[in-house]
Amino acid sequence: MYCRKCGTRNEDSSLNCIQCGESLQGSAASQQPPVPTIPNYLVQSILATVFCCLPLGIVAIIFAAQVNGKIQAGDMPGALSASKNAKTFCWIAFGLGLACTLMYITFIILSVAIGNQ
Ligand SMILES: [Zn+2]
Repeated sequence: MYCRKCGTRNEDSSLNCIQCGESLQGSAASQQPPVPTIPNYLVQSILATVFCCLPLGIVAIIFAAQVNGKIQAGDMPGALSASKNAKTFCWIAFGLGLACTLMYITFIILSVAIGNQ
């Protein structure tokens, strides 16, 4: 069964959740996996790959792709970890992409300024 509080999969005979200690008796437990509440950042990862930094974006996509699989396997800590990693690499890719764009714009402005002299 699945813990209704944190989503961790437990043995059907368990009295309490192995992850958070929530009682699994009665209404506290569900036979169906809970709706995943962990964001997988897949869309952000793809956008970061296309518009920002290809290598880091691909790393983000790899982590993002792991999130749903780990949720379905009942590995909530692993899913959370993959989600955090995907988010981190998205931001790094975004930051690097922004830095490269700013350098490119600066280069163009300098070229025009020098060309006008
Ligand atoms: Zn739990």
